[in-house]
Amino acid sequence: MGAGLVGSLLALYLARRGHTVQVLERRPDPRRSGPQEGRSINLALSDRGWRALEGVGVADSIRAVGIAMTHRVMHDPAGHLTEQPYGQAGQAIYSVNRGHLNRTLLTLAEAEPGVSVAFGQQCLHLDLAARRLHLLDTATRQEHSADYIRLFGTDGAFSAVRSTLQRTDRFDYTQDFLDYGYKELTIEAGPNGAWALDKHALHIWPRGRFMMIALPNLDGSFNATLYFPFEGPESFAALDTPAKVQAFFEAEFADAVPLMPNLLAEYAHHPTASLVTIRCYPWQHQGNVLLLGDASHAIVPFYGQGMNAGFEDCTVLNQLLDQHGDADWPAVFDAFQQQRKPNADAMADLAVYNFVEMRDRVADPRFLLQKKIEAKIAAQFPGRWTPLYTQVTFSPDVPYAQAWANGQRQDGIMAQLMPLIHTEADYDTAPVQALATELVASPG
Ligand SMILES: Cc1cc2nc3c(=O)[nH]c(=O)nc-3n(C[C@H](O)[C@H](O)[C@H](O)COP(=O)(O)OP(=O)(O)OC[C@H]3O[C@@H](n4cnc5c(N)ncnc54)[C@H](O)[C@@H]3O)c2cc1C
Repeated sequence: MGAGLVGSLLALYLARRGHTVQVLERRPDPRRSGPQEGRSINLALSDRGWRALEGVGVADSIRAVGIAMTHRVMHDPAGHLTEQPYGQAGQAIYSVNRGHLNRTLLTLAEAEPGVSVAFGQQCLHLDLAARRLHLLDTATRQEHSADYIRLFGTDGAFSAVRSTLQRTDRFDYTQDFLDYGYKELTIEAGPNGAWALDKHALHIWPRGRFMMIALPNLDGSFNATLYFPFEGPESFAALDTPAKVQAFFEAEFADAVPLMPNLLAEYAHHPTASLVTIRCYPWQHQGNVLLLGDASHAIVPFYGQGMNAGFEDCTVLNQLLDQHGDADWPAVFDAFQQQRKPNADAMADLAVYNFVEMRDRVADPRFLLQKKIEAKIAAQFPGRWTPLYTQVTFSPDVPYAQAWANGQRQDGIMAQLMPLIHTEADYDTAPVQALATELVASPG
């Protein structure tokens, strides 16, 4: 259920294993309808996502239309720029177009023998005992039902499949909305389609309580997103006239405003969307229903990992089917939820943690110094220290929960070292070296 990013990739995985798959999707076919507004236009794809795409042989064709982002560029209020590499030489996250990725995966899935996709089919609810779906044909407005043998709920953060599971006994569920929303805006291409900003960077305008970010598109434009409180003195509610919007952007994002000729129209017409973390458990029901992707673990977007985590679900499910075989679904579903749940929970925490880092800490010279010191520690103690960002983004063999635990330990070590460090050179002094060696070597 749901032919979004995870559903279409999962269909491909299941079909390659020889299963017959019927994919049902509420929306019309995205290859025939125009782009959807209100969801991010581009996404940061990183190594967990690539691994899942490689598993079905589609990574190279997607990479060919992605843009490598090797570093962050921070824009201060005066327009001064600072940079921070994401990883080591050769490491990058990729800006990819959501629509292109979804359409490519759908086309590949549909080309597999045994896969059929029906659009305009909205799941209303399930009858779990009878294994029956209740559907609405969105074109005719007719309700109908269909039986299922095994159902994969990949219908996103507000999953209808999950809503039915929520009514079963001992099903845990929480949703936490941030006080922040987001609005998508455009930084236009320069003359002849040239990128007006460094195209190999994710741009951030960190302003403490709020921020704007921008990711490059192939046509020379950037997709910018303002993350901003819903209410308060500086908020979506407070910017209630075009003049206030203009004045606010000129004060906060002065270097971007000349590149945003449609700012006021876009600000007025693009939706202000909310940001939610959803946790639930169990993810499976009696070995015949399984939730994957945002349906089981929707997270806020600040680590660029929601889709990557959903794609990793497909990798893990495929590995478990290799281990248990394609007949013992209860064992596979149980192993899947036990393995994935702690990792999804860790990723949800990491995503909130990174919001503070992006909107606030990256503007602090002390924080940037700390990151340089961490890079020195990583070089000095290979195998004993991997920066948290690298573990989450470029280390698909490190589970998210492990990365988060390691990251918290490393944060504790940096809290002890940084009071002794005021310049990069301080790291090489004897007392700092002694303490670093002792702390990094300790079992934690
Ligand atoms: C602003 C923003 C930026 C983001 N940036 C990143 C990023 O940089 N990197 C990253 O990895 N992730 C990012 N994410 C997260 C990413 O978008 C999601 O994690 C990802 O889309 C989840 O895929 P999914 O297939 O589980 O759900 P979805 O993409 O939501 O797909 C669900 C599908 O199910 C369909 N559906 C829903 N309800 C029904 C129903 N009742 N019946 C039938 N079909 C239904 C929907 O139409 C949709 O096609 C971002 C999210 C946001 C909001």
